[in-house]
Amino acid sequence: MTSLSDLPLRANLVGKAPYGAPQDPVPVSLNVNENTHPIPEDVVEDIVSTLAEAVRGVNRYPDREFTVLREALAGYLGHGLTPEQLWAANGSNEVLQQILQAFGGPGRSLLSFTPTYSMYPLLASGTDTEWIPVERPADFALTPEGVAAAIAEHQPDIVILCGPNNPTGTPLRRDVILAAYDAFDGILIVDEAYHEFDADTETAVTLLPGRHRLLVSRTMSKAFAFAGVRLGYLAADPAVIDALRLVRLPYHLSALTQAAAVAAVRHADAMLATVADIRAQRDRLGAALAELGYVVHESGSNFLLVGGFADPEGTFEALRARGILIRNLSIPGHLRITAGTEAETTAVIEAIAELSVSGSR
Ligand code: PMP
Repeated sequence: MTSLSDLPLRANLVGKAPYGAPQDPVPVSLNVNENTHPIPEDVVEDIVSTLAEAVRGVNRYPDREFTVLREALAGYLGHGLTPEQLWAANGSNEVLQQILQAFGGPGRSLLSFTPTYSMYPLLASGTDTEWIPVERPADFALTPEGVAAAIAEHQPDIVILCGPNNPTGTPLRRDVILAAYDAFDGILIVDEAYHEFDADTETAVTLLPGRHRLLVSRTMSKAFAFAGVRLGYLAADPAVIDALRLVRLPYHLSALTQAAAVAAVRHADAMLATVADIRAQRDRLGAALAELGYVVHESGSNFLLVGGFADPEGTFEALRARGILIRNLSIPGHLRITAGTEAETTAVIEAIAELSVSGSR
């Protein structure tokens, strides 16, 4: 049988592992930062009837410019954005890939501050873009001085700042974004996948006027409880959107995706109604784990990075055996846990407490 190593793979993909968070069918799945609360039934019904209508037209290609969806997303984001400043794709992963296809590539580089979202280096290698990881300070919080110095040293073509940062939860300060923008003349992406969970930070969308190299990426996969539909989006200068049109595949957003997303945005308030509860569960989880002696890092998101595990892989597997899936990202002593429903959060707290008592923490 042929294996990967027998194939004439592109040199920069040799030895790379694909994105591969486990997808076990366990009762308590808290490993990929989804919103684990179900969508309200009346919203489900409206989405289904919108989809039924869309199915009647699928003999034709969908609107390549997804005009209605861009209008809906501009309305949702507010701050005076126009549909010309909006773009969308199948998840913000695809949005980020299109940005790298347009602005990265051979001879170009992408810089970010690690630990951060594990797909950034994979998207870089997939587009033949050099990946420049710069380590965060011990508390994971970026400073304007640190960011400006790293950009001056490495002279990247693209910088991506994740706020709140996955997997640490660290909020992203506005003065850090401004310092990064002013430190170079390349493309600055602010990845706001978890923004809706961060009640204290203003969106970087309000920094867009006058900054044509600033790109703000968002997703419906997290707070919006729509991960299965695959819809990520971007707010930026209309010229940036023109650049993405050069690399997107024709009709990349299916008629069904467009219809489902438009219907969901119509119900934005109901879709986001669980955010306050998720934040409360996150804080309850953090307080309980701190009480047990673990180190809980500040989070503006729907997950916590928790330190103090003597054997993270052992704890990960012990929880998995109890039907609870969390995430081991190979950060020494640490595990990442998504805040779920009240019952799920209780289950993970009780299981970790039990493991701590039995000495296998
Ligand atoms: N950015 C960050 C920081 C993420 O954590 C994720 C998902 N884990 C994404 C982007 C991509 O999400 P999606 O493709 O579902 O929009």
